[in-house]
Amino acid sequence: MKLIILGAPGAGKGTQAEVVCEKYGIPAISTGALLRESIKDGAPLGLEAKVFVDQGQLVPDGVVIGIIKERLKKDDAQNGFILDGFPRTVPQAKALTEMGVKIDSVVSIEVPDEEIVTRLSGRRVCLDCGASYHTSYHPVKDGIHCDKCGSEVAIRQDDNPDTVQKRLRVYHEQTEPLKEYYLGEGKLKIVIGQEEIADTTAELLKVLEV
Ligand code: AMP
Repeated sequence: MKLIILGAPGAGKGTQAEVVCEKYGIPAISTGALLRESIKDGAPLGLEAKVFVDQGQLVPDGVVIGIIKERLKKDDAQNGFILDGFPRTVPQAKALTEMGVKIDSVVSIEVPDEEIVTRLSGRRVCLDCGASYHTSYHPVKDGIHCDKCGSEVAIRQDDNPDTVQKRLRVYHEQTEPLKEYYLGEGKLKIVIGQEEIADTTAELLKVLEV
């Protein structure tokens, strides 16, 4: 299965991608996570991307398209994948088609902006492995360390309130038009993001099975 998960920052794309990829045995590919890795490693691409990520802006299309092109060549992506955070613009979606990638479904997780702001204020990420948590909905077991690798969790730099507002604006202006784009291709499915992670997962699996 080749699936795209759309949604505003903090709508739960990464969390849901993790569950779905386990069920279908395919990798979840997040351009945000790949960019954060490059930034952490101090790679030239990371240095170029950091300015945009820190400001809540989109990294230029050419950069992320290059990253995805390379990632999709890997063995684990040959039987399907879930894209979380890509495409984020219409040119990125067109690039995917030009690469010969045939997407089966596009699921948009809908969460109101006010709810996003509250959610992101509680999001915590592992500084080492990138696992994502939430102080209320999905807390780490000991309150400090990642359940998976034991490193400390922290607030993501771009989850501060000002940057969140910018990211929401960018989402509505540049990414939301993708709903229309994929609706036109007959691939768009809408899922309402629920408070409970498991409720959203149940909805999502339901729309995928239809
Ligand atoms: P995310 O982890 O998906 O919230 O992404 C974090 C940040 O990485 C975004 O705010 C953008 O700055 C950048 N980013 C991730 N994916 C893309 C993309 N497809 N196009 C442009 N920028 C991206």
